[in-house]
Amino acid sequence: MKLRLKLWILFLASTVTSFFVLFGFAAVIGLFFNQGYTHESMTELGEVIVSDLENNASSEDDAKALINNYAEDYPDIHMIWFTYDGRLIYDTKNGSTSLTFEEYMDHFLNMPQNLWLYDEHAAFLFDFEIDETRYYLLASLQGDAVQGSQIFIYIADYQQLAMLVLPIILFLVTPIIFAYVFFSRINHRLNRLNNVMKKFKFSGEKHLIEDDSKDEISQLTHNFNDMAQRIQKQVEEIQVIDEKRQSLIANLSHDLRTPLTMIIGYAETLNSEMQIDQITRKKHLEIILRRSTYMNNLLEKLLEVAQLDQYKTRIKKKEQNIIELIRRIAADYFLDFEADGIDFVVDLPDKPIIANFDKELLERALQNLIDNAYKYGADGKYIRLQIVQKEKMIQINVTDHGKGIPQSKQKHIKERFYRGEEGRSGEGLGIGLSIVEEVVNAHDGKLILKSIPNKETTFSVILPLAN
Ligand code: ADP
Repeated sequence: MKLRLKLWILFLASTVTSFFVLFGFAAVIGLFFNQGYTHESMTELGEVIVSDLENNASSEDDAKALINNYAEDYPDIHMIWFTYDGRLIYDTKNGSTSLTFEEYMDHFLNMPQNLWLYDEHAAFLFDFEIDETRYYLLASLQGDAVQGSQIFIYIADYQQLAMLVLPIILFLVTPIIFAYVFFSRINHRLNRLNNVMKKFKFSGEKHLIEDDSKDEISQLTHNFNDMAQRIQKQVEEIQVIDEKRQSLIANLSHDLRTPLTMIIGYAETLNSEMQIDQITRKKHLEIILRRSTYMNNLLEKLLEVAQLDQYKTRIKKKEQNIIELIRRIAADYFLDFEADGIDFVVDLPDKPIIANFDKELLERALQNLIDNAYKYGADGKYIRLQIVQKEKMIQINVTDHGKGIPQSKQKHIKERFYRGEEGRSGEGLGIGLSIVEEVVNAHDGKLILKSIPNKETTFSVILPLAN
């Protein structure tokens, strides 16, 4: 059911209910808590008595007997019988009374206010005829025998009725108009949100809605805007990764085909009937070996890409001396760097530093950083491995004096599959740094890059110390 229809049903139901509640309440209160004669019941009773007198009393004595009967049935009511010119004939209290006509007439003063004054009389006058002679019957009662509250509505013509009903209609309709305007606005805002949600697509299209109010619908709208923005950002990221994956596959097939063609070519030559001297044979075999090793490395790295996301769950941290690990890693590189004439500086504190880390993963990450410093910064002929201890953390710096990374590329450098020009022309896959970052994140640490091209490039791994 549409909200608009529900709203109308609600309006109608609430109006009818309030109508019944109002009058139902008044009736119940009147029935149980507002006892006594009313203006209306007195008038009706008076009419009944005088018509009885007119129809059934043929003499004064008959009439007196009838009046007395009624007085016994209605003991609160005091009845007095007058002639048309004001002479008293009979009074139910004393038989014949000592009060003057003027005194009786005083009962009429200030009616109908007297109806509610306990110490005053409320009086009603009726006229009747017996044997073509006219009489008055005065019925009076003490204020406390009358109902505490009564509603009087006297309407002379339909125009007056309209004037009375109009405010009642307005009284009922005004809240409905206000509520309708309010709900229409809410309905409009919900419809707008609904339409935008229906049209939502995972494309680059913008789906934001303006809503400056501070209520729940505006919160919903803001949450939708946030969600749409987050989804769009994620879709864009997925698209970028997808593009990179595609280009990786293209690059990989190229990177694998070239050495494979070479291997096949050289292997065929060696396998042919041709006479090949010992030196050439050795050269061919060396090329085959080098190219197969290259392919093997490439495939190993590819395997690592597949495992990247599992670091957070696979990690096995242990509190241990990090200096010892760094010293062992450095030792593996000394000979190679020396042979290439690289000044390899290892700057470590003397005393052990205990940190909580996974030895194998951290070793792989640091090796990636040192390999990069060698691959891309060897022409600077300087590589430094340094540990700086800070208050609650430890910083491991890998520095080189090579070409460095231009400012514009620095923010992409850690992304998966991102390769600089050197990376593309060499054996790079663009995953080394993303592996480092995954490992560092799994240790609740940070990877920071500072590079001044052609001067100094430092990758810093910051790890929290053990408690
Ligand atoms: P790969 O080395 O497999 O290409 P990485 O994620 O390790 O992938 O590195 C991404 C890119 O960052 C490299 O292609 C290279 O251009 C650049 N890079 C990494 N380390 C350095 C460095 N020390 N100096 C200059 N460029 C670097």
